[in-house]
Amino acid sequence: MVETLNITINKNPNSKLDQIDFDNIQFGKIYTDHLFVAEFKNGEWDNFQINPYDDLRISPASPSIHYGISIFEGLKAYKNDKGEVLVFRPDKNLERMNISAERMCMPLIPEQLYYEALDTLLGIDSDWVPSQVGSSLYVRPFLFSDDDFIGIRPSQDFRFMIITCPVGAYYSKPVKVNIEDHFVRAIEGGSGFCKTGCNYGPAIYPAKLAQEKGYDQLIWTDGKDHKYIEESGTMNIMFIMDGKLVTPALGDTILNGITRDSVLTLARDWGVEVEERKIEVDEVVTAAKEGRIQEAFGAGTAATIAQIELIGHNGTDYKLPAVEDREFSHKVLKELDDIKYGRIEDKFGWIHKV
Ligand SMILES: *Cc1c(COP(=O)(O)O)cnc(C)c1O
Repeated sequence: MVETLNITINKNPNSKLDQIDFDNIQFGKIYTDHLFVAEFKNGEWDNFQINPYDDLRISPASPSIHYGISIFEGLKAYKNDKGEVLVFRPDKNLERMNISAERMCMPLIPEQLYYEALDTLLGIDSDWVPSQVGSSLYVRPFLFSDDDFIGIRPSQDFRFMIITCPVGAYYSKPVKVNIEDHFVRAIEGGSGFCKTGCNYGPAIYPAKLAQEKGYDQLIWTDGKDHKYIEESGTMNIMFIMDGKLVTPALGDTILNGITRDSVLTLARDWGVEVEERKIEVDEVVTAAKEGRIQEAFGAGTAATIAQIELIGHNGTDYKLPAVEDREFSHKVLKELDDIKYGRIEDKFGWIHKV
């Protein structure tokens, strides 16, 4: 890093902080007092600002609205008992954001811009990072086309922003999931490995249909034959099968989750046998019937671990072992929390202190 960016700070004169009941926060409803914004124009990043959180002005012709030329990330900040703000693996989010950016013909976010934006914003809004057990501050960086031209071509102007919102202690109820055999989230050669707006809008309808059938979520299968398991909703999926941790291998169609990577890293460190490979739907259904699945869960930043209590397939429901008896997922959740809140040594270098 040469010198620091010149970030203009416009403080919010009307803080909402004292109006917030941190014991009852609904996810994604309340945003903090400030946001970060930077512009990409004429091939370079400029105009770095921290502003009061407010609505945007954007061209009605912006390709971000018409064609989904937008990408995003999701990460979390925590407070340790010294009151310091700790961010969990932000380097991985930057890496992934730039992979998405390349696929979507967008400019890369420079490391210096990303960290200065993050640190300055979290510094100014540090009182918004909850200190209640289990609570955190969700951080949403995003990049979108700021052109005023509705032609379909690579955009030239962009805006990079970060907004943040406090999230309460999140008890995620065990979920019932149905194996999807018609709709598709991602296909080989597509954009499934990116966090781009275009992947999420179309996934809502199949999830809604699954909910109408009494499931909470669906399990995506491969877009060609619906033969292999891919992900669960917007989480990576993992099984403890015959005592081994088994998860679909990464590729074009599977989002490279940071929670996934963290769980696999801990498992390997503990000597758990890990398999990243193709998993056939038939293999899971047979193992469920024969009682060879000890645990199944989704892995993602929002809930960390979302227990799967039941898997539906072709109208038959397979109940999985009681959530209380699941040794691995409880242990991994506790270990991750201990790292995120700075209660144990950060031996993998996962914590970034603001
Ligand atoms: C974000 C996301 C995940 C989880 O990634 P994390 O980095 O662990 O939050 C998994 N699948 C999809 C489709 C996602 O969008």
